[in-house]
Amino acid sequence: MSPSSSPEDHLFGVYARAPIEVERGEGTRLYDRQGRMYLDFVQGIAVNGLGHANPVLIEAMTAQAHKLWHVSNIFRIPGQDELATKLCANSFADQVFFTNSGTEAVECALKLARKFHASRGQEERIDIIGFAGAFHGRTYAAVTAAGNETYLAGFGPRLPGFVNLSLDDHDAIKAAAEAPTAAAILVEPVQGEGGARALTDSEMKMLRDLCDANGLLLIFDEIQCGMGRTGKLWAYEYSGVEPDVMCIAKALGGGFPIGACLATRDAASGMVVGSHGSTFGGNPLAMAVGVAAFDEIVKPELLENVNRVSGYLRQQLEGLKDAYPDMIDELRGKGLLVGIKVKPNNREIMTLARDNGLLIAGGSDNCVRMLPPLNVTEAEAREAVGLLEKTFLAARAAAKAKESV
Ligand code: PLP
Repeated sequence: MSPSSSPEDHLFGVYARAPIEVERGEGTRLYDRQGRMYLDFVQGIAVNGLGHANPVLIEAMTAQAHKLWHVSNIFRIPGQDELATKLCANSFADQVFFTNSGTEAVECALKLARKFHASRGQEERIDIIGFAGAFHGRTYAAVTAAGNETYLAGFGPRLPGFVNLSLDDHDAIKAAAEAPTAAAILVEPVQGEGGARALTDSEMKMLRDLCDANGLLLIFDEIQCGMGRTGKLWAYEYSGVEPDVMCIAKALGGGFPIGACLATRDAASGMVVGSHGSTFGGNPLAMAVGVAAFDEIVKPELLENVNRVSGYLRQQLEGLKDAYPDMIDELRGKGLLVGIKVKPNNREIMTLARDNGLLIAGGSDNCVRMLPPLNVTEAEAREAVGLLEKTFLAARAAAKAKESV
């Protein structure tokens, strides 16, 4: 260790971190070490679905912490049975594999898809069809599936068996799905990092029809848009189109690292003993928090809150868009996955918002995202809109000052 190094010198420099030293959180509020309070509409990027320090989750975690933290998956873990039963009873799925993160859930889904075909004697069916603007996490397979050049550069050759297409190029999607090597289509029903783009019902149906016609598995990545974020438990429910496989994470653990790959019994039929595994995935502590978070999120009153507050927030943002045409280009997303395509640089807006006490996330296509907890109140939504307006006024002033230099 060099004598002049600062503490953060000892972390990989992979994040452009905001200069806030976080200390504690409570509901929608985040406090830094100097005691400054922020209205947190990032919430770990749609992770803290019930806000910071939710008492129900704290209770579930501490009760379990006194009983049993961890055992290997070579033993039966009752919490896994309990959470998997709840997930299956409330979705298209029959079976679940638990992971520690979203990208591991995606990894599991991709392996499942190839194994599905291999176990039917079709080893050549390996192609995963993914889409531009997608984000599926940071494993080799996940970055290859999403095809984002920024995340692929410098990491050597891409893994074979991945096709990346534009969601608008229906002919290319059809051709790829009809290829004898095609295995699955992987898509986020509402893209998160890609700029909060929601697929239309007809796009969802087109993908389902192509999978059915060609024997492909349809995999939904609902890691960001699932678990109540859009106002229904799963975003796919809006279209009526069900997948064969679905990846979830983020709000599933309310801040505790959990992911899950859900599948129909048929889709998961290749995942036999020894084909996959995880040391930590689905450990008793994670399951206790996951069960508690799921029970809260599935409550009709919470989903009603998402619909009510997101309707209000959108209406207020529409007003802001009319009043600040130089700031807002387009409003996107669904429910409380709110995308705002801004006209000034999105990083500048995020910084100015932070200076004004509002935390918002970035996104591709010059978007900022508001991802408040699902139990956010209308008053907090109003406060956020007020702070965003202050931010826009500051951005206007900064632009004017630049002009006059
Ligand atoms: N998929 C989607 C849609 C995501 O938004 C994310 C994370 O932002 C991931 C996958 C990766 O999840 P994790 O960072 O937990 O690996």
